[in-house]
Amino acid sequence: MWKPPRALGGITRHMHIGGLAAVIRFAIFLIAHLAGAGFALAQSQFSGWTIEVTPQAATSGIKPKPSAPSKPTITRVSLTEEANLTRLVFDLNRKIDVSVSTLVDPDRVVVDLPEVDFRISPTAGQNGKGLVKAFRFGLFDANQSRVVIDTDGPVRVVKAQVEGKKPQLVLEFGRATPGSGTVTDLSKPALRPGYDEEPLVETARVSDRPLIVIDPGHGGLDPGAAGPDGLLEKDVVLAVALRLRKLLAETGRYSVIMTRDKDIYVSLDQRVRISRQHKADLFISLHADAVPEESLASVVRGGSVYTLSEHASSEQARRLAEKENAVDILAGVQSLANEEADEVRNILFDLLQRETANFSADFSRLLTNELRKHIALARDPQRSAAFKVLQQPESPSVLVELGFMSNADDQKLLRSPEWQNKVARAILAAIDSFFAKRALGAVYVP
Ligand SMILES: [Zn+2]
Repeated sequence: MWKPPRALGGITRHMHIGGLAAVIRFAIFLIAHLAGAGFALAQSQFSGWTIEVTPQAATSGIKPKPSAPSKPTITRVSLTEEANLTRLVFDLNRKIDVSVSTLVDPDRVVVDLPEVDFRISPTAGQNGKGLVKAFRFGLFDANQSRVVIDTDGPVRVVKAQVEGKKPQLVLEFGRATPGSGTVTDLSKPALRPGYDEEPLVETARVSDRPLIVIDPGHGGLDPGAAGPDGLLEKDVVLAVALRLRKLLAETGRYSVIMTRDKDIYVSLDQRVRISRQHKADLFISLHADAVPEESLASVVRGGSVYTLSEHASSEQARRLAEKENAVDILAGVQSLANEEADEVRNILFDLLQRETANFSADFSRLLTNELRKHIALARDPQRSAAFKVLQQPESPSVLVELGFMSNADDQKLLRSPEWQNKVARAILAAIDSFFAKRALGAVYVP
């Protein structure tokens, strides 16, 4: 077995590496490292084994990246069914603490972990087996990752532990039978909404500038819609949002806040809270839809702009709002359905009292006109439904569906940087017209 040279006494090796290839890889690593290529790079390229630099190595000529210790990594996942048990196993590069709880209505198992690096396919959880219908994973909160497992009915968590020399997180589920008792809490419940801090990207508010809140939908363990080749809604909308923020900042006319600027879960409540707390002058939520029916995927495409209404403009709009409003449930956050229904009514009443609804409709019209110049729109693109994220009495707000992830033509555009730029420019043009009108004191007349 190869041993590290004495000069690198601070470096220790974990896990066995076999064969010449690994030795060559290690030699390449050393060369790259000594040439100053950086430690993080070396680590990310050679997953499967780990090198640690101890403090004495740091003082003996090797400079580790001055950042926090690297995150634990999940490198593989497997889902199998055996007799009456369904096993979901994640391979880890080191041991971690986990907490597991179950939720009902719908039935889910929630696994909370420290922040881990998921080096597995983003769509790994789309196909179920046994008692597992599907699972999602990703960043849930600052420093906290989460796996949410949709189960086929109530389950018993038979096992939930990190074990083995090569550590694995092993989860075993059996069907919960009456009287068998469901394991509801193996450690601590995990129901709070994520991202409660204020880590938002904010350009300093300049009092005479309109404040725009950009809300890229989904994020972290909530991927949103997925295209057939693995493109995820959360990534598309973040890309467009970041371009829009840049364009807005360049004008020098606006202050901008984003509800998220990275791949992290943010609850719908938190998105609304951010907007209300900062008294947004305009709130723009970005999404991209998908149709589940394969037969419709080739024909249903194009963008649309939604405003808030109690009664949806169409059955399709109603279903879309229902889907978008359910994302907190998917993320393993308990819903407060009844209280929320009351709140919708109160807010809608409030909206009618104020002019907010008129301003939202005005912006929706301006935005639809601008988008129409540059991108394909759906039929009747100005729509409305009871989206939670639009329930803001003080701020004009719209939700934009940029296109359909399920349509091959749309998907090609959605991932293209040129197209994303075009969309961001169209939104900027609409924002400019909207505030130019308001500055002139123009009042919207329906
Ligand atoms: Zn969405």
